[in-house]
Amino acid sequence: MKLETLAIHGGNIITDNLKPVIQPITLSTTFSHQENSPVYSRASNPNRDALEKLLARLENGDEAAAFSSGNAAGMAVFQALPKGSHIIAPDDMYHGLRYQLQEIFKDQFSVSFVDLTQPENLESLVLPNTKLLWIETPSNPLLKISDIKVLSAIAKKHGIRVACDNTFATPVFQNPLELGADLVMHSSTKYLGGHSDILGGALITKTNDDFWKRIRLIQTTGGAVPAPFDCYYLVRSIKTLPYRMAGHQNNALELAHYLNSSEKVEKVYYPGLKNHTGHAIATKQMSGFGGMLSFLIQGGAEEADTMIKKLHYFSNATSLGGVESLIERRAASEGPDSTTPANLIRVSVGLENVEDLKQDLEQALK
Ligand SMILES: *Cc1c(COP(=O)(O)O)cnc(C)c1O
Repeated sequence: MKLETLAIHGGNIITDNLKPVIQPITLSTTFSHQENSPVYSRASNPNRDALEKLLARLENGDEAAAFSSGNAAGMAVFQALPKGSHIIAPDDMYHGLRYQLQEIFKDQFSVSFVDLTQPENLESLVLPNTKLLWIETPSNPLLKISDIKVLSAIAKKHGIRVACDNTFATPVFQNPLELGADLVMHSSTKYLGGHSDILGGALITKTNDDFWKRIRLIQTTGGAVPAPFDCYYLVRSIKTLPYRMAGHQNNALELAHYLNSSEKVEKVYYPGLKNHTGHAIATKQMSGFGGMLSFLIQGGAEEADTMIKKLHYFSNATSLGGVESLIERRAASEGPDSTTPANLIRVSVGLENVEDLKQDLEQALK
């Protein structure tokens, strides 16, 4: 099955005698004992099974595990590591996961945060107890691109497991397992859900090894699992994912070019622009550049906030990946420790007509 077909048919498990076309929602938490039937919904549920099967196939993995949020999915990877492990992670790692390593796991692990866009930085950091390399590409909010293949090859040489946060690219534009990663992580709250109304996360593994069995144990016994309703909605959303991603990327590319030509804008960060530092690697490892972009407005925080207030179609809100455009001054969201420039504006480009979006930006930048 090709991508669009798989997105529609890959997550539909029909067991009902009435033969509905769409898999119903199974809300029951418990099931009458019989062979091959689920037992209890924390351990497995037909809607979660369908979602996991679909995600595993979309990422070309062996199995997937769905969680109640992206942070819960990431946390399961850290929880599966032996105590005393050393982790290498990007210096611009998603702040919620970085916070887990720095606060929740500070007594269990040591972590080196490094700029992974420079793979030569990696080798010198490897210790005998390095167990995990965490990659996130494109990254947040500067859309930095790390070379998954090159980094994975270095990690493999040292027996280090590689996990890649694929939230920004989605399986439509990037398949980290095919580039050498062992695990893929998603915040399905973002593009997979696509309508800003589902919180969820997922892990997908290349092989069903002992590490994965530990993650499965953490999922089902730890219990941070999504409700059947959320799984149903995710399966439904993913049917349009390939088309949504194409629309997001077309709109983002056009707005990136427009902003790049505006004299009110100092710099645009979008991997689809030839002047982006990661453009060559993005072209090699991605089949599209996604729907996220950032730019530096001329001036400071005040100019940025004033511009954002004038917009009609871009909601001033955090998060990303929905059909509606969102915009925020990123440093304000990241709090006092943020190293993001005060005049950096992050945009999740939605699926509105791009001329409307462009005109809106134009009037707000005036
Ligand atoms: C949102 C996000 C997460 C965390 O996911 P939640 O669903 O909010 O818990 C992790 N990584 C990236 C890149 C994200 O954008």
